[in-house]
Amino acid sequence: MQRRLEKFRSLLNEKGRAAALIMRPENRMYLSGFTGSAGYLFISRDKAFLLTDSRYTEQAREQAPYFTVVEHAVKWEDKLGEFVREAGVGEVVFEKDYVTYAQYQNLRDKLDTVGWIPEEGLVEKLRIIKDEQELTLLRQAVAMADQGYEHILGFIKPGRTEVEVAVELEFFLRRAGAEKAAFDFIVASGPRSSLPHGKASAKLIQAGEQVKMDFGAVFRGYHSDITRTVFMGKADAKFKEIYHIVLEAQERAIAAVAPGKTGIEIDRVARDFITAKGYGGNFGHGLGHGVGLMIHEGPRVSSAGDEVLEPGMILTVEPGIYHPGWGGVRIEDLVLVTATGCEILTKAPKTLQELTLHN
Ligand code: ZN
Ligand code: ZN
Repeated sequence: MQRRLEKFRSLLNEKGRAAALIMRPENRMYLSGFTGSAGYLFISRDKAFLLTDSRYTEQAREQAPYFTVVEHAVKWEDKLGEFVREAGVGEVVFEKDYVTYAQYQNLRDKLDTVGWIPEEGLVEKLRIIKDEQELTLLRQAVAMADQGYEHILGFIKPGRTEVEVAVELEFFLRRAGAEKAAFDFIVASGPRSSLPHGKASAKLIQAGEQVKMDFGAVFRGYHSDITRTVFMGKADAKFKEIYHIVLEAQERAIAAVAPGKTGIEIDRVARDFITAKGYGGNFGHGLGHGVGLMIHEGPRVSSAGDEVLEPGMILTVEPGIYHPGWGGVRIEDLVLVTATGCEILTKAPKTLQELTLHN
C-alpha cells in the first residue's frame, strides 16, 4: 500500500499537480486498502487523508495505516476545505471520468479558493499493472471460477432453468469464499445463446441445445471472468464446426499475447481467423478486456486497444460466433502478460463438453 501511494505521488509530480481528490471506490481501495462503501482520499506531496463517516472510521483506521483517517459530519466538503488549507495547495485534481457534473459543481461552489483540475486515469495507470499481492488474489478468484465450472457440469440437465444454473453457480462460488458474483451471470441456452450478453432467464434447458455460461467470482475486490459453452447430449456437426473455429481463434490469439503488442493486434489475430472461416460478420464484440478491481478495466483488447501490453497486465481473450435463430459459442480465459508471452490463468478445460442427459 505504501508503495502504491508513493507511486501515485510521483505520477502527480510528473503531471505537475500538487494534490488529488480520489472518489472512485476501486481507486480509493487500491491506494489506501480501505474497502468501505463511502470515503474520500485527499493526497498531496506530504499529506494523505481518508475522510469517511462514523459508520466506517474504525474500519478505515484498521485498513488504511498510511492515511490519516478523519471522520466527517454531513458536510464533508468543510473537512476537505481544512485539508486543502493545511496542505497549502492552489489546485486539486479530480477524477473527471467518475465525478458527476453535480459533484463537480458542488466542489467548485463550496471550495472556490482552489482550482479544480480534471484528470482521467491517474490511478488506473497504476492499476493496469498488477503487483504480486494482486496476482495472488486474482489467481484465487480464477480458481474459484474453475471449480464452479467443474461443479456446474454435474448440475446442468434438461428441465432446469437458466436461472437455476446461474443461482447454483453463484451459491457455489460464495461457499468457496467469493464475496460476491463478479457480474450478473450469463446463462443462455439454445437460440438464446446468440445473445452475447443474454442474462440467465426462466427458459428451460433442453436436450440438443448448447448452453453458454459467462461468470466469475470476486475475491477481496478482485474479479475473475470465464465463459464456456457446453452441449446437452451429442453435439451436431454445426455446433462442432463453430466450436472448433472459436476455440482455435482463441488459442491463436492467446499465443499472440506478449509484451510490446497492442490489444488491436491480439484482437485482429482472432478476428482474421474467424473471418477467414466465413464468420467475420458473426463476431461483433471486442476480443477482450482488462480485469482487476473492476470487471472491465484497462487494457482494452479490441480494435480500439492501442495500449502497449506490459508484463503484469491481465486480460480476457473471448472470441465468439453468434447466429440469431441458431445460437452462439464463446470461450473466455483470463491471461497474465509475462516477460516472454503470457500465462493462461484459467485452468477449466476447453475440450467440447457433451453432457450426458441424466435425470
Ligand atoms: Zn465473461
Ligand atoms: Zn469478459
